[in-house]
Amino acid sequence: MYLHEAPIDEKPICLQANCKEAGAYDCVDCDAPGYWCRECLIEDHQYLPFHRINAWDGNSLRHVNLKELGMTVSFGHELGLCPHMATEGGPQDITILDVTGIHSVRMAWCRCAAAPTQAEQLFERKWFPATLQRPRTAISFRVLKLFHLLNHVARTNPWDFAGTMHRLTDNVCPTSVTDIYKPFKHVQRQWRVVRAWKRGGVRDPALPRLNGSLAMWCVSCPIPGVNLDPGWQQHPDSDLIHTVFIGVDGNFRLRRHNKGGGEKADPSLFGNDAYYAPHPDYKMFCRVRGGAPDDMADMTCRMVKAGEPQRRTVNANRPTNGNLSNSCVRSGAFAPKGTVDIILGERYGVIFVLLRERLIGRQFCQC
Ligand SMILES: [Zn+2]
Ligand SMILES: [Zn+2]
Ligand SMILES: [Zn+2]
Ligand SMILES: [Zn+2]
Repeated sequence: MYLHEAPIDEKPICLQANCKEAGAYDCVDCDAPGYWCRECLIEDHQYLPFHRINAWDGNSLRHVNLKELGMTVSFGHELGLCPHMATEGGPQDITILDVTGIHSVRMAWCRCAAAPTQAEQLFERKWFPATLQRPRTAISFRVLKLFHLLNHVARTNPWDFAGTMHRLTDNVCPTSVTDIYKPFKHVQRQWRVVRAWKRGGVRDPALPRLNGSLAMWCVSCPIPGVNLDPGWQQHPDSDLIHTVFIGVDGNFRLRRHNKGGGEKADPSLFGNDAYYAPHPDYKMFCRVRGGAPDDMADMTCRMVKAGEPQRRTVNANRPTNGNLSNSCVRSGAFAPKGTVDIILGERYGVIFVLLRERLIGRQFCQC
């Protein structure tokens, strides 16, 4: 590790085999044993524009980026520049977030008559633009996939992740780095939806889909014809093994405060496609049956608190008071269309809505 703090030779030679120039640039992200000259460095990084470079000035290593060294990312003409690149203001600098940090990259767009839009040119290189019209920020697919997994496995939230990326870029003065938080927050939400569309075989998102069709079914629940052996009914313990165990429970901590303009200003991107019960049905239920008292006649336990009115929304600025979810008791997997917002405590009536959605689910229709 210490050996990487300075070149071993006093006057290093470029590590490219046929180059005799002095080597002055070390790449943090290439596993290369030496230094490059400027020309060879740029040539070897044509498809690696987010590598972090250190320049040796004879005394110390200093951070530089490939843009400062003259690198331009070209589109549409392999590695050559578009002959119409200079129109509309010439190359442009855009901010890109990658696993190596936040980078300012000079883009030489293809501006030929039949050229794709700038957003499409970014998608071609696996960079997700923050906006489709004249994008100036993009996030690499690599970093979106990494965050998606970190979010599920390590519970990392976008704020912490963006802060980490700021520090990865400049740990001395992270506030001097272009703030990536807001575009990242928006793009990572879109990424999840597009990934779910892809997995669900959606070719045209504008076409109608079955409710819950983008959610993943529990893999351990028995489904005849999918994960059961032929003749499964003959198994002596079939009643136990081939039974779906459904659990319903509420979480009163998942409240949502009324921030911003609500659903109109910040609509759900999944809508009725995934884990929430179909909104029109649930809304209708709440209107017709939502305020009716639960039937408590057969209840022997008087200590149950879940349905108490104290658990209802006490703050007008809180549109939901928690969630009620239906999950597989065997594996803990949440069921598609199996979650609703709690309006008036954990009531039997709402649980029936969830059970209904579960029982009419696609999984059972295939039997
Ligand atoms: Zn490199
Ligand atoms: Zn060289
Ligand atoms: Zn062109
Ligand atoms: Zn299950």
